[in-house]
Parts: sequence; C-alpha cells; structure tokens
Amino acid sequence: MNHSVVEDLVTASHILANEGVLDGLGHISVRHPDNPQWYLMSRSLAPALVTSADVMEYDLDSNAVDRQGRALFLERFIHGETYKARSDVMAVIHSHSPTVIPFSISQTPLRPVFNGAAFLSPSAPVFDIRQVAGMTDLLIGNGELGKALSMTLAQGAVALLRGHGNVVVGETVQQVVYRAVQTELNARLQLQAVGLGGPLIYLAPEEAVKVNARSGPEAIQIGRTWELWKQRAGRQV
Ligand SMILES: [Zn+2]
Repeated sequence: MNHSVVEDLVTASHILANEGVLDGLGHISVRHPDNPQWYLMSRSLAPALVTSADVMEYDLDSNAVDRQGRALFLERFIHGETYKARSDVMAVIHSHSPTVIPFSISQTPLRPVFNGAAFLSPSAPVFDIRQVAGMTDLLIGNGELGKALSMTLAQGAVALLRGHGNVVVGETVQQVVYRAVQTELNARLQLQAVGLGGPLIYLAPEEAVKVNARSGPEAIQIGRTWELWKQRAGRQV
C-alpha cells in the first residue's frame, strides 16, 4: 500500500474526530492510488483510534481484499458505490456530523451561508431511505442502497441521509476533510442565521461558481487548514 496515502487517511480520521465531524462512528476512505477499482479504509474502529495497521483494501463491491478475520464497517457500501458512480471522486466521508442532521428531517434545505461552503450550492439533496426501501434500520448496509444513495448525490459534493447523517466526496483526502468540516460549520451558522429571523441572503449560484473555481484540491485554504487541523489532532506536521 502507498505509505503517504495511508498516513493521510489516518491523519484525516484523527482530524475528523478532533474537529467534531466523526465521533465513535463514521468513516473516511480514499480510492486506491494504484488501482482505481479498489479503495482504502480502516477496519471497523472509532476514527480517533485508527492507525496505519488498521487500513485495509476493498474492491468496489466493498469486499475486503484480504480480510484476515477483521471486522468491517456495515456501511462500507456508501464508499464502494460512490466510487463506482463517480470516476472523479477520490475520497469519501460518511459522518453523523451532528448539526447537519436537523436539515435531513426538516423542510429547510442546507444551503451555503458563507463562501467556505460554496460547494453546497444550491443546496444539499436529501436521501430518504424510506422512499427506496420502506421501513429499515436506516443503515446503508448493502450495495443496492449504496447505489440509490449515489444517485441522490449525483454530481454534487454532499448529500444528507434522512434521520442519519451525510456523505461528502472530494478529489483528495485533504479536500474531502475540508468539505466535511465546512459542512458541519455551515449547518451551525445557518441555524444561527435562521434564529435571527427575516429573509436570509444565501450565496447565489453565480457566486458559488466563482468560489468553487478557486477551491480545487490545490487551493491555499485547503492546505492551510489541513496543516492546522493536523497539528491540532496531534499528528506530526
Ligand atoms: Zn451511518
């Protein structure tokens, strides 16, 4: 396995736990740098506890390539089916990011409040598992559900899972971490703005296009925040 990619994945797990995006649950994966038909993700473990020895290879049907008896995440199909549907996606996060969940059960869509979350424009779609599978335990526990979720995500960066959490995608580990943290922040800011009352002025789609044009994986803000969050999570810079 590629050493630096594995280390970035471990760092990302620790950052996401430290920044309040992931708690005991949730996971991040990265497409395999040498084989686009595989991805890398840890065994079933709280993200803050992940080490490089816990990182495993999976095929896009989310079978472990060499399981060695290890426990796997039940919702790993979110990752495999997203990589199948989106050749541009190189990293995926599934979280239960707490401030985002209210928007998954409300009629108020999650919309970009500030430029740091322009990738949410015009609003994050909501996947309601009940529409495709009736009454379930809400988990994306097989490939069929993962595929249905990927259709709701479509070409977007973020989709919410009704009463459950969200999925965030990116072109690099650093970019997907940036987006996941900004999504949680945007949800918090939007709730605060709604509390002020009156009509709100969200980012216009035209503004979002301009922000997104300078928010690619090489953007300054992504590298700068990654280094800060990495140090804050106690990882060597
Ligand atoms: Zn989940």
